[in-house]
Amino acid sequence: MSFSLARFFLQIGNSSKAANISSSNYGYLLSTPNTRKFTAIPTTRAHKSIEELLVVVGGGAAGVYGAIRAKTVAPNLNVVVMEKGKPLSKVKVSGGGRCNVTNGHCSDHMILAEHYPRGHRELKGSFFNTHGPVDTMSWFSDHGVALKIEDDGRVFPTSNSSSSIIDCLLTEAKHKGVSLQTGKVVINASVDAGGKFHLKIEKRTVFESVEADYLLIASGSSRQGYSLATQLGHSIVDPVPSLFTFKIEDSLLAELSGVTFPKVEAKLKLENVQRNIPYLKQVGPMLVTHWGLSGPVILRLSAWGARDLFTSGYKGMLIVDFIPDLHIEDIKSILSQHKNKFAKQKAVNSFPSEFGLAKRFWKYILDRESLIGDTLWASISNNFIISIADLLKHCTFSIKGKGQFKDEFVTAGGVPLSEIYLNTMESKICPRLFFAGEVLNVDGVTGGFNFQNAWSGGYIAGTSIVPGAITLSGPRPFKVYTRRRNEGRDKECTTLLQIDKESTTQLEMDVGEKYGGRNTWLKAVTVMGAKQNIRDEE
Ligand SMILES: Cc1cc2nc3c(=O)[nH]c(=O)nc-3n(C[C@H](O)[C@H](O)[C@H](O)COP(=O)(O)OP(=O)(O)OC[C@H]3O[C@@H](n4cnc5c(N)ncnc54)[C@H](O)[C@@H]3O)c2cc1C
Repeated sequence: MSFSLARFFLQIGNSSKAANISSSNYGYLLSTPNTRKFTAIPTTRAHKSIEELLVVVGGGAAGVYGAIRAKTVAPNLNVVVMEKGKPLSKVKVSGGGRCNVTNGHCSDHMILAEHYPRGHRELKGSFFNTHGPVDTMSWFSDHGVALKIEDDGRVFPTSNSSSSIIDCLLTEAKHKGVSLQTGKVVINASVDAGGKFHLKIEKRTVFESVEADYLLIASGSSRQGYSLATQLGHSIVDPVPSLFTFKIEDSLLAELSGVTFPKVEAKLKLENVQRNIPYLKQVGPMLVTHWGLSGPVILRLSAWGARDLFTSGYKGMLIVDFIPDLHIEDIKSILSQHKNKFAKQKAVNSFPSEFGLAKRFWKYILDRESLIGDTLWASISNNFIISIADLLKHCTFSIKGKGQFKDEFVTAGGVPLSEIYLNTMESKICPRLFFAGEVLNVDGVTGGFNFQNAWSGGYIAGTSIVPGAITLSGPRPFKVYTRRRNEGRDKECTTLLQIDKESTTQLEMDVGEKYGGRNTWLKAVTVMGAKQNIRDEE
């Protein structure tokens, strides 16, 4: 063995070297817990201390959560969030201003993953096990935000105000020493041979360059974010809208605006889609709006059909069963009994209560069947009863376009999940590049699932980026980065080794054997997504 055990030590948590790094990029770098201040001196390589810099692109849910996590695990890592607008602006407007933080009815992570039209297969792995809805709820509760779970599973702050979430995140970011820089757009990114990121940043018309050791792209559905990902070698699945309402041109239906149905079964049929997709049938509440149909069942269909609806130009057929709990034969017999019992009443004024329908909707059904207003039940034929039953079970609506849904809207598409490691959120293409949130080709249905994707991804990335403390036990995959001192400058080699070892001792020996040498500084060993510093004592 060329390298003795004594020449290594595991550095858990903080770097032993003090930070002297400062730059305009850290202009308002907030103080670390020990209130270290940073002054504004431009960044150059010469000023770079041994401390490393993580730049987070995007101060949304994923970026801020990830930044806090990174700074929590490695307080000496410099973490800067670049936000082009206001931080957490979507959190502010989310859930109608109440912020549906996550979903409290999906503790089974396999079931949880089923709520993601893009991602439902991939997210069944370690993703939610590492940080799922229960962890999210605990995190916010531990940080002083009281939460409540509503009957349908949506989780909100008890304050019913998204400000509680924003205040909590910003306070924690400040407390941990995350630098949040607003009004700054990251417009360009490249990576050099040594694995350093070179970022071009614009604030109004002023440009600056930043060099980062790690990059977390959490830019949501912004085109600039996709562009950064492609500059660093990634592909992008074409972004298309998800979670929208259906535009239906039907003047009779428009008169029902505001009518809700607690439970319908709706099926989406698209001309260009021949195959039978199970998710294009959904059960749940539906709402009539003045331009068409909305409500959870429609939004879910829009999400599962997002890509096909886009290709079809948002034209298709919706088939709704308004009484899904009753068989058509039962409906016919209930209607016949009603006819016999209320023969002398006008059909428009009296209908079976078992159906649980609004009177306005019953009139709509009769209008669609062209029943004259004064018709008595006595004069309704059996064929007519069959026809009404059929309409209640298979009511078709022609979808003419995409409506707007202001409460929640997401983008399907983005960086393909096949291009990242979901247990670390690190790029498979570019080491030390991480992604989290909506920038990825992941989107959920309504109910808090989209924020959960942001929290989980941010948390995992934040944990994986940093050289943090972690106890080793059992075999784990390791990834080693080395830095060689070469003519006074550091040169980095990345992703050099993947080994399974049962103890740190064994790991140290193997690393030493492979990369030993006076001039070698070994660092950043990835252990199931978290990193540790290992360095040559000399
Ligand atoms: C109106 C509305 C309501 C919603 N309500 C809910 C809800 O209640 N529950 C739920 O689960 N989901 C909800 N969603 C979806 C949810 O908001 C998103 O899925 C979530 O915000 C995604 O988080 P993110 O951090 O990935 O992206 P974002 O929140 O979009 O954050 C990305 C940030 O990156 C910044 N950025 C982008 N590019 C750059 C760049 N080049 N340089 C610097 N900064 C950049 C952007 O300005 C933005 O602030 C809602 C969405 C909308 C539009």
